Amino acid sequence: MRVLLTGGAGYIGSHTAVVLLEEGHDVAVLDDLSNSHVEALNRVEQLTGKSIDFLEGDLADAQLVQRYFDENNFDAVIHLAGLKAVGESVEQPTRYYQTNLSTTLTLLDAMRKSDVQRLVFSSSATVYGDPQSPLISEEHPVGAGIQNPYGWSKLMNEQIIRDTARAWPELSVVNLRYFNPVGAHSSGRIGEDPSGIPNNLMPFISQVAVGKRLQLAVFGQDYDTRDGTGVRDYIHVMDLAEGHVAALAKTTPGVETYNLGTGTGTSVLEAVQTFEHVSGKQIPYEVKARREGDLATVIADSHRAGEKLGWQTSRTFEDACRDAWKWQVQNPDGYGPSR
Ligand code: NAD
Ligand code: UDP
Repeated sequence: MRVLLTGGAGYIGSHTAVVLLEEGHDVAVLDDLSNSHVEALNRVEQLTGKSIDFLEGDLADAQLVQRYFDENNFDAVIHLAGLKAVGESVEQPTRYYQTNLSTTLTLLDAMRKSDVQRLVFSSSATVYGDPQSPLISEEHPVGAGIQNPYGWSKLMNEQIIRDTARAWPELSVVNLRYFNPVGAHSSGRIGEDPSGIPNNLMPFISQVAVGKRLQLAVFGQDYDTRDGTGVRDYIHVMDLAEGHVAALAKTTPGVETYNLGTGTGTSVLEAVQTFEHVSGKQIPYEVKARREGDLATVIADSHRAGEKLGWQTSRTFEDACRDAWKWQVQNPDGYGPSR
């Protein structure tokens, strides 16, 4: 298939590009490089020995996007482009809604005009808001308790896509609700390259281990969990990438939604211990107050993806830490300073 990967130069996109190319798909990446480097795509090409068509630009630019659709014969779209920093979305709500909604609207219009009938959309476990149980299936209610514009923008995107599919019965959509993507390609050539101070746990731990940051702040040790720290379902980014490619195989019209996670929880302190084990480095930490809006435990029930997409994870949390460490050591400054 000829696949358009929006946001394909980013963290999840670059890993998804590797799997797509390895499975024999043709890949075009549309990205404005606002949170990524073109070097990631060069490395994907080196890793796979295959080439990517890089279409630079803003996915909200309707004219440009339609031109790319007119010039290419896409069979399917994997839509990852967007803004993703939760804290930033609270400070800049209009920017987040503007970008995360207009990109999807523009894309859906171009797909409709060019009759591209297959879409995989990157949603998030944040759509579940304040979960009523630690283990979350796709049947869990969405919306109640979402704490930030980022999470709302994902839920709104799902609604926009559902309404579009109702008006366009040939459209076939898979919404993938990711839990916590971590790790890197096992080569250490591509990985997560956060700009500034990482918000997420695993990149922060990596940067402490490599000596870029002095210590980790553990946000709360008074949760109702086995060691008092927050528990999350960390999924290896290559397993997640494989989930996208499995989702492409879906051909039935309509919208399906799948959680992508491992079904296993890891606490903050367990994550620290595992990273210390694989890196051989000490991760100094200090317990601080809870971070506002954080939940005690969030774990995916991903049985549906296993049954319907024939997808399952094959990498452990330790694998993810080892691969993230390899990436961090080989690329202490990520892909480089400019962004
Ligand atoms: P990322 O920032 O590394 O990748 C997003 C890419 O989109 C970047 O390359 C950026 O340059 C590009 N982009 C942003 N706005 C654009 C625009 N207007 N036009 C064209 N390109 C644009 O993020 P990621 O971690 O790879 O996440 C990919 C997707 O997965 C996002 O939609 C994100 O919300 C979603 N997601 C991520 C996580 C996570 O923890 N990483 C969890 C759940 C969902
Ligand atoms: N966390 C932490 N220190 C950090 C970053 C995160 O203790 O510097 C904790 C956070 O409270 C949560 C877990 O690590 O329990 C995962 O947080 P992350 O931001 O990576 O993901 P999310 O909050 O989206 O699940």
